[in-house]
Amino acid sequence: MTPPPSPPEQQLRAYVDYLRDMGIYDLYRRDNPSAILTDELRATLAAHAAPAPAVRTQAPQTPAVRVTPAASVRPAPAKDFFVEPTPSPLPPEFAAPMPKPVSFDALVPLQSLLVPPAERAAALQAVRDRIGDCTRCPLAYAGRRNIVFADGDPNARLMFVGEGPGADEDATGLPFVGKAGQLLNNMIAAMGLKREEVYIANIVKCRPPGNRTPEYVEATTCSQFLIEQIDIVQPQVIVALGATAATYLLGVKQSLSSLRGVWHSARGAKVAVTYHPAFLLRDPRQKGEAWKDLQRVMAELGLKPPPKPAQGS
Ligand code: URA
Repeated sequence: MTPPPSPPEQQLRAYVDYLRDMGIYDLYRRDNPSAILTDELRATLAAHAAPAPAVRTQAPQTPAVRVTPAASVRPAPAKDFFVEPTPSPLPPEFAAPMPKPVSFDALVPLQSLLVPPAERAAALQAVRDRIGDCTRCPLAYAGRRNIVFADGDPNARLMFVGEGPGADEDATGLPFVGKAGQLLNNMIAAMGLKREEVYIANIVKCRPPGNRTPEYVEATTCSQFLIEQIDIVQPQVIVALGATAATYLLGVKQSLSSLRGVWHSARGAKVAVTYHPAFLLRDPRQKGEAWKDLQRVMAELGLKPPPKPAQGS
């Protein structure tokens, strides 16, 4: 009887099935899997691989005499997966260098009808239901605990888009609830708004392992749902928080400084680019610059900062 496929094999098969669903049939093997393997995926693969030889670097001094003991001992691997450049079972899309990002506006509208305000919450829930327990990209297999869909008002005029969930968001299923989220809450309050009045989402809905930047295949696979969310909410203004959000929302790979200070557009919304709150936590001197970006957004939305509390109160 053929043994059942190991979990990594199942994952790879699921991904290949997904690519086939997308109409991608021509898959080739590539020699260097390590370029795209995450630490978690590497650990999973290693756990399921046969044990590696104890000494990898030194050739034996004398010809080794190999005694094959009992049949219960696992056979030695034909090749050491992580040492020799053996063909990878992964499709090349995983390892490909990042292609040019595609602007959200260049993609076919998924939401062909405008959703009336009263139906937006249900329409967003339908998108969430369709995402289900998603396995469409490798992040599903990289230790994710919760899919982080979004938070906030389905009829918001202002939407914030970040990069992807971190540890706190992964644990709670809500975007921007950790330290960066607290700073984002303060930024929203400084604009005279409450967090519940804006809509907050991310380029990817699953936590990238170790909080690394999402890979191209992960961002573009997930962004179909973000496009739908934007189309349903129809925000007047989107604030792209950081370079990853700007890259995928706008379809351009440019420095953040060159994208700040001018209006862009995506899915009918005006897009402003500013620093990611996590970056501002690392370099608070840039908060003044971020505030300038937010003031332009406030002017566009006709927002006034809340009155300062009276002295001594
Ligand atoms: N950073 C992000 O980009 N998104 C979150 O939800 C949290 C931190």
